[in-house]
Amino acid sequence: MKRRNFIKKASVTGLGLVAVSSAFTSCDETSEKKEASVAMSKPIRPLVIATWDTPLAVETAAKILQNGGSALDAVEQGCRIEEANEKGQSVGKGGLPDRDGDVTLDACIMNDKGDYGAVLGVKNIMHVISVARKVMEDTPHVMLVAEGAEQFAVSKGFKRENLLTEASKKAWEAWKVKAEYKPIINIENHDTIGMLAIDENGNISGACTTSGLAYKMAGRVGDSPIIGGGLFVDNEIGGASATGLGEEVLKTVGSFLIVELMRQGKSPQEACEIAIGRIVNKPGKDFKNFQVGYIALNKQGDTGAYSIHEWFNYTLFQDGENKNIKSDYFNKI
Ligand code: ASP
Repeated sequence: MKRRNFIKKASVTGLGLVAVSSAFTSCDETSEKKEASVAMSKPIRPLVIATWDTPLAVETAAKILQNGGSALDAVEQGCRIEEANEKGQSVGKGGLPDRDGDVTLDACIMNDKGDYGAVLGVKNIMHVISVARKVMEDTPHVMLVAEGAEQFAVSKGFKRENLLTEASKKAWEAWKVKAEYKPIINIENHDTIGMLAIDENGNISGACTTSGLAYKMAGRVGDSPIIGGGLFVDNEIGGASATGLGEEVLKTVGSFLIVELMRQGKSPQEACEIAIGRIVNKPGKDFKNFQVGYIALNKQGDTGAYSIHEWFNYTLFQDGENKNIKSDYFNKI
């Protein structure tokens, strides 16, 4: 199909022109591209979307955007709220430990330039999302792991502290009695916060932070800190983030897949549904006992979410309002 016809067809069928224009960014500027950028000038309001019921984190991010702050500052500060919330047993301080009783945290962040920073398997540091940002901004690398990441954090002024709270220690001791490991769906043992935001300049950033699966093997890392797995942002297209069984997200490179589907003209909702389809439609895949949930937004501020099972929900700040919304899901039987 000729490019002009493709663009015309896209506008008739309602495909996002943002996606269409960026699909051709390697071509030189032409009238079609100008046509497309005029059509995308719909005002974008500050917007934040985050996995699960995380009102304070989303409100914190939204306030930063409403005061003219960047999407990057918004997602970092929003995630820090959950990292400091000791009652949340899947992120930051108070996260459930691995089998050996060690709390190890994973986090990553992406800015609107497509830069990425991550830390994996970090002990003793609460605000790993901010350490990930420092990796992105202050080092020539994109990932630091375990002791190296901890030492780097300390060198940047982060304080070492014990992340294992009494409540999480008790839960681990109770688990040790049988020491059975099953990734159980929809309970507080896997509720990563992934957050995406668009600021008043229309720029998108994202962040993702977690203590990973409760009672994981020592050294296990999930999707959350891995680019394209737990998080992906392309400022020309949109962003996506994941929660749930990280192994399944990684095997399908879920967040990257969603952004690429949006690049091809899918809405955020359609893209999330296709990404869940990639997991559940694998021959012989028994998805009954694990959950995966995705959130996504595109450059125009459309959002989507989808999960394998019921009860995945997300928090959305849009048009000045913060709402918790139950996601649609695949397994309706
Ligand atoms: N995705 C995270 C992981 O696999 C956990 C979660 O979101 O519940 O580490």
